[in-house]
Amino acid sequence: MDAVYTNRLNALRLRLKRENVAAFLVAHPADLRYLTGFSGDSGLLLVAARTVVLFTDGRYTLQARSETRKVSVVGSQGPLSPAAGAWLNQHRIHKIGFNPEHHTVAEFRALRQACGKGIGWEPLSGTIEELRGVKDDAEIAQMRRAAALAGDVMEHALGFLKPGVRELEIAAELDYQMRKRGASGPAFEAIVASGPRSALPHARPTAKRLKKNELVVLDLGAILGGYCSDLTRTTFLGRAPKRIREWYAAVREAQAAGAGAARQGVPCAEVDRAARMALAGRGLDGYFTHSTGHGIGLEVHEWPRLASGQRQALRAGQVVTIEPGVYVPGIGGIRIEDEVLIRRNGCEFLTRVPRDLVEL
Ligand code: ZN
Ligand code: ZN
Repeated sequence: MDAVYTNRLNALRLRLKRENVAAFLVAHPADLRYLTGFSGDSGLLLVAARTVVLFTDGRYTLQARSETRKVSVVGSQGPLSPAAGAWLNQHRIHKIGFNPEHHTVAEFRALRQACGKGIGWEPLSGTIEELRGVKDDAEIAQMRRAAALAGDVMEHALGFLKPGVRELEIAAELDYQMRKRGASGPAFEAIVASGPRSALPHARPTAKRLKKNELVVLDLGAILGGYCSDLTRTTFLGRAPKRIREWYAAVREAQAAGAGAARQGVPCAEVDRAARMALAGRGLDGYFTHSTGHGIGLEVHEWPRLASGQRQALRAGQVVTIEPGVYVPGIGGIRIEDEVLIRRNGCEFLTRVPRDLVEL
């Protein structure tokens, strides 16, 4: 396991060299975990050419020492920014990279104050995100397990849906089933949206009861061994009318078109465009109101994004979701979401629940 973190730290150092910075200050918990194995949610990590120092508070010192190797752990009594700033001041590092999205203004001010003048701060977004995007074999194996777990919970849930059950009860059952199957928790608050509420892509479950002849969107994911899954299925409580079947078929086609376009070297925007064009062919693109997908890993939403304007190319080893939808206000919504692993010549579905319209 040690070698994994050494390799990741070295990959980061290589990038820092290219950016001409001497060190990088990491604050984002998922990045800390990726680079060192530390799974606490408070820490500041300094990665320099030869040293790796983790500042954390008293609650996490023991945990940090047992979870990491070759990292100097500094337990701090007070806020972490002044401690890290003082270290930088002592070690005379002149140029340091950081991700501006991961520090509050107050923290950054405290850092600069503690490290004194003469240090250049270089905002670098996406440096670690890009590294995290491409998964190694062990990560892919873990993501397969997390995806399988989400699939099992989805199949269980489909047996649980019936008129009269409240959305909140279903959400509670989903969380329970995930943990029962070994997940450390849900990767995000599950979406259970029925009837006209299913037209809200990010509906939170409510006390509403399911009714006959409604669409139900279930979007769920679990965290297993630190890695997230994300899966959506849409069902109809009863026999679906022709119009709903047509919309469903269109969304399925859009997903297949997106997956058909996804392979190494293809710009992310191209996958989004392929899915959108399939819906446009049925006059439904106006009802697809979000982007086609996102990277997933230690966090449920990661780099890259599959959206228009995203020109960077997909790379083998990335895991992304493909999740087109059609949302018709006042009537309902349909979304089909799966995770795929990008390969050189195509992609492989990691989530394997059947994708046909389920009528209950
Ligand atoms: Zn998603
Ligand atoms: Zn989702």
